[in-house]
Amino acid sequence: MDFAFSEKTQNYIQRLEAFMHNFVLPAEGVYASQLQHTSDWRKWKQPPVMEELKAKARAAGLWNLFLAGSQHGAGLTNLEYAPLAEITGRSPIAPEVFNCNAPDTGNMEVLVKYGSEAQKERWLKPLLAGEIRSAFCMTEPEVASSDATNIQATALLEGNEVVLTGRKWWSSGIGHPHCRVVIFMGVTLPSAEKHQRHSMVLVPVDTPGVRIERMVSAFGMYDEPFGHGEVTFSNVRVPADHIIAGPGRGFEIAQGRLGPGRIHHCMRTLGAGERALELLCQRALNRVAFGKPLAELGGNRDIIANARIAIEQARLLTLKAAWMMDTVGAKGAMSEISQIKVVAPSVAQTILDQAIQIYGGAGVSPDFPLAEMFGCIRSLRLADGPDEVHRALIAKLEIKKHKQVATLEHA
Ligand SMILES: Cc1cc2nc3c(=O)[nH]c(=O)nc-3n(C[C@H](O)[C@H](O)[C@H](O)COP(=O)(O)OP(=O)(O)OC[C@H]3O[C@@H](n4cnc5c(N)ncnc54)[C@H](O)[C@@H]3O)c2cc1C
Repeated sequence: MDFAFSEKTQNYIQRLEAFMHNFVLPAEGVYASQLQHTSDWRKWKQPPVMEELKAKARAAGLWNLFLAGSQHGAGLTNLEYAPLAEITGRSPIAPEVFNCNAPDTGNMEVLVKYGSEAQKERWLKPLLAGEIRSAFCMTEPEVASSDATNIQATALLEGNEVVLTGRKWWSSGIGHPHCRVVIFMGVTLPSAEKHQRHSMVLVPVDTPGVRIERMVSAFGMYDEPFGHGEVTFSNVRVPADHIIAGPGRGFEIAQGRLGPGRIHHCMRTLGAGERALELLCQRALNRVAFGKPLAELGGNRDIIANARIAIEQARLLTLKAAWMMDTVGAKGAMSEISQIKVVAPSVAQTILDQAIQIYGGAGVSPDFPLAEMFGCIRSLRLADGPDEVHRALIAKLEIKKHKQVATLEHA
């Protein structure tokens, strides 16, 4: 394993860091002031500063850096993209600036990998250009959706149409004023084997029967202008060619989609952890209590040291997972992807919690990004599969190795 950054990566790191420093971090306050802070998503607007930043990033060649191994992206491997995603994770607004934000990245990956030429032309092109946004509608309030085979919404074929019925929630991004399309998962072949029942269907959001019921807040935050919608689909009809890759392939696509998406989240999460540690240290050095800087009080030095150790460990595991995705593919890297999906948010959550503590009351206020970042990172321990589901997979793969050995020994 060689994790040394290539010349290309170093060049991107330099440019990206300069862009973050010069444009993105200074724009955070402007962005926040341009948001409509209301639960009524119909009033949400794209903050104008975001479009300005996007145009600058695109002109600077800092665009679509994800999409490893595809001619549509910047031509980087997962290992090369890892440090770049980490840099963008330092700011909640950065991923969209570079057109590298969830859920659009995952949806673009689905279209690149499984989409027909017509689907790519209609949806991938404007997504890659950052002209539209999208959502991914899999999770349902009525069933334990961490087990994707439970998904019970239907996508039934009728002649040359597919008819969608069901209730989804946590559809991230559906409140965005630029959201034009969703990927819907539903049962098409109820009597098929349970991993071959579901289909993924592209649905324009203005199709009759698609209704956003409400935006669901997480820890009281709406994450505007993206939002997390509860959406009903009532007798929604779209042409059958809107099914991605054909009926019954939904589960397979969901697995394919979540591999790269999960590791991107982890890379960005490390950036959030780094920023939290940086903010923690600044406060600990500059604020005095009981005659000493906070850094010198109680166990605060240990907290700082442990945070550094945990970030370094998590980064190495992220890089290993990225390297394995590049060398043996997402399937061969399943255990490592799940390992880092458990580790990275938990490391960042602990550091954010400690940073909030060091900041005292200011830590939970909107004056610093810590509280918002904490909410996002905590949610990430559920989104894209709860920790327990990843642990179950890691254990299954681990036990399988030993079962194979036991079988050989008894042969
Ligand atoms: C902020 C946010 C954004 C999201 N964005 C999207 C999105 O864009 N699109 C989308 O479709 N979904 C999205 N989700 C939904 C997310 O993927 C689901 O919440 C997640 O998969 C869990 O499903 P569930 O909520 O139905 O929990 P359940 O399946 O009911 O699970 C609840 C709990 O059961 C326990 N559990 C489950 N399985 C096991 C196991 N094997 N071993 C031990 N314990 C277990 C865990 O503690 C788990 O947290 C988002 C969620 C959040 C919070």
